[in-house]
Amino acid sequence: MPEIAGPIRARDVSFWNVESDILIIGYGIAGACAALEARRAGADVLVIERASGGGGASAISCGIFYLGGGTPVQTACGFVDSSDNMYRYLDASIEPANPDPLRAFCEGSVEHFNWLEAQGIPFERTAHDGKVMFLMSTECLLSTGNESVWPFREIANPVPRGHAVAAEGESAGSAAMAALIAQCEAAGVRTLYDGRVTELIADEAGKVVGARVRQAGTTLHIRAKGAVIIAAGGFSFNQQMVRDHIPLISDTAEPFGIPYNDGSGILLGQSVGGTVEAMHGVVGTASFYPPAQLIKGILVNVRGERFVAEDSYHGRTAAHIMTQPDQIAYLIVDAEIFAYPELEFPRHRLVDGWETVAEMESGLGLPSGSLQHTLADYNAGAARGNDERFHKHGEWLKPLNVGPYAAFDVSFNRSTYLYLTLGGLRTNRHGEVLDESGGPLGRVYAVGGSAAHLPDSGMSYASGLSLATGSFFGRQAGRHAAASVGRGVESEN
Ligand SMILES: Cc1cc2nc3c(=O)[nH]c(=O)nc-3n(C[C@H](O)[C@H](O)[C@H](O)COP(=O)(O)OP(=O)(O)OC[C@H]3O[C@@H](n4cnc5c(N)ncnc54)[C@H](O)[C@@H]3O)c2cc1C
Repeated sequence: MPEIAGPIRARDVSFWNVESDILIIGYGIAGACAALEARRAGADVLVIERASGGGGASAISCGIFYLGGGTPVQTACGFVDSSDNMYRYLDASIEPANPDPLRAFCEGSVEHFNWLEAQGIPFERTAHDGKVMFLMSTECLLSTGNESVWPFREIANPVPRGHAVAAEGESAGSAAMAALIAQCEAAGVRTLYDGRVTELIADEAGKVVGARVRQAGTTLHIRAKGAVIIAAGGFSFNQQMVRDHIPLISDTAEPFGIPYNDGSGILLGQSVGGTVEAMHGVVGTASFYPPAQLIKGILVNVRGERFVAEDSYHGRTAAHIMTQPDQIAYLIVDAEIFAYPELEFPRHRLVDGWETVAEMESGLGLPSGSLQHTLADYNAGAARGNDERFHKHGEWLKPLNVGPYAAFDVSFNRSTYLYLTLGGLRTNRHGEVLDESGGPLGRVYAVGGSAAHLPDSGMSYASGLSLATGSFFGRQAGRHAAASVGRGVESEN
């Protein structure tokens, strides 16, 4: 757990070991994109990274970027999207307090895709139409949100926006980071590895002018003539912060990321007057699909009642399960759709099989008649091709009436849910950290997991929103910070 005191007073710094125009803390996707844009605008850029090399959690990610508005991949695969269509969906799903950053993200999405590709990040012109959590192939486009889930499918035309990097496996993110780091090196971004920023340094007026760094047992003072960009990731690995802000996280849940995502970036920003938002926000995941046929099952709580459309994105489903009584939920299937969940990490346990629904109800300890009533109601609707309660899409509807029946335990506190924190420093569309008054602190930016995500809950998260927004707002911050030291041109629009 990081101890962040400070800020250190500049007058107590007797010697600056290193100077740069822009100091960036953390070399994951947000830091690399900020560094690249600031450097290309002409600023002298130094990245301080706690590990022995760049990459961060970004390099072990699945490499899915949530982008749309009519990207070349969407167009090549026959999907019609627009920035307005993308905005309508995300706005309805996220309901942002300040729509400005979301609007900027949607309007800049196609340009951002082109930029990422121009850096050497490979994207195929292919689409995958199965329901998966990540791809074990090099296909690109996949549905990673709730676009087809009611009511969103009626608010905006549902199209896939998850753009997966063309590299196989769970860590396609490493291919993206290798390309970005190579560009940073070619552009002349300076790096200081094995250095942990422990405090920020401020002058008498409270202006941030640098950072204190611990490296190999020594303390360095690094001057930032222009600005400091905090890109140190989120706080999933800071148990105390998670306990304080997200009490619903169960003991069986495991953080998603790297141990250095310990909230130090957020605490550094707070130490100089930065405010935070969405600190309660978390996306959990323990997807019960693939195989997709399991989506035809129903999820019930301890009252034997459904509580979510089962075709929701797995993060939305997890958010619902997290708030059910005792966090308990069962996936109910019949003999026609029975299959074991393919993903191993969630450890969803097969509770048992039963010949009748009444036996299953009693075997699960549900109130007498509850599951029988829920299934009778669901089956009647499914036979008519609709789900009046939760509007599950017709593609996933079939009466569950072929015994024997089975139940998987998908409880939040019994299965293993991986989680990613969504809260962080409050920023504007340029990535500037905001103070209590809502105005920019000045000279301090936060991007990626150190800033609050656009969605503040797993209800509205979509896979790819971290890498896409981290890279997008990283670029905005890099350009804006460079302009603040008289480099490049940054529009205030
Ligand atoms: C297995 C997995 C799969 C995922 N898949 C996806 C996906 O497909 N799409 C998606 O959008 N998101 C995905 N995510 C989430 C996503 O990877 C992260 O949210 C994102 O990478 C955060 O980027 P970042 O630049 O903010 O942080 P990071 O990439 O973690 O970079 C932060 C860097 O800061 C450094 N640092 C921390 N503290 C300090 C300090 N005090 N001083 C100096 N350096 C410091 C860290 O060492 C690290 O290198 C996935 C996550 C995991 C774990």
